[in-house]
Amino acid sequence: MSRSVVLASNNVKKLAELRRIVTPLVPGLEVLGLADVAAYDEPAETEPTFAGNALLKARACVAATGLPALADDSGLCVDALNGMPGVLSARWSGVTGPDKDRANNALLLAQIADVPDARRAARFVCVIALCLPDGTEIVEQGEMPGRILRTEHGGGGFGYDPLFAATGYDVSTAELDPAEKDRISHRGHALAAIAPRIAAALG
Ligand code: IMP
Repeated sequence: MSRSVVLASNNVKKLAELRRIVTPLVPGLEVLGLADVAAYDEPAETEPTFAGNALLKARACVAATGLPALADDSGLCVDALNGMPGVLSARWSGVTGPDKDRANNALLLAQIADVPDARRAARFVCVIALCLPDGTEIVEQGEMPGRILRTEHGGGGFGYDPLFAATGYDVSTAELDPAEKDRISHRGHALAAIAPRIAAALG
């Protein structure tokens, strides 16, 4: 079985994070990014669930490259918005480009402006899918529960981090040391869950 896996993402931070978390658990594993394989048409994220979108991207990658493929989908689910923005997190405000995060955060704050502190629960969710050339499909999910703050705090992280405080923390995830965020994050939990399954599948 191949000891290489392709991460179906152009995000260099995700690639570095995957290598950091999975390589120690799967010695000798070569983790490639989309820049390392021949270009193919990447599918749009059209599914209504995180798992659906992660599988869509991993299936397209294994079909195009013939190599085991990993893909993830993640987002913020806010209780007071019935789980939205969810799979629409990246596109919530419709703004693209450098102002995207600011616009998404401003819209979210406005939408729950009247929601009292006791009902501002939310969670980040990440689903990672592994698809093998033999048709095997493995899916793992990680979550980070917390609450939506009333103003932005901190300059680290990305996306909705300045508005989100994880359960047990008084600071936002944009104020956490990156290693601390990895330890408690939805993505960290999903990667830790799928790493031994990658080892078993490719071992
Ligand atoms: P994707 O999985 O890369 O498509 O990310 C979906 C969107 O969810 C991002 O653009 C962010 O808006 C949001 N998101 C996912 N994970 C995080 C996180 O760890 N911090 C802040 N925002 C996140």
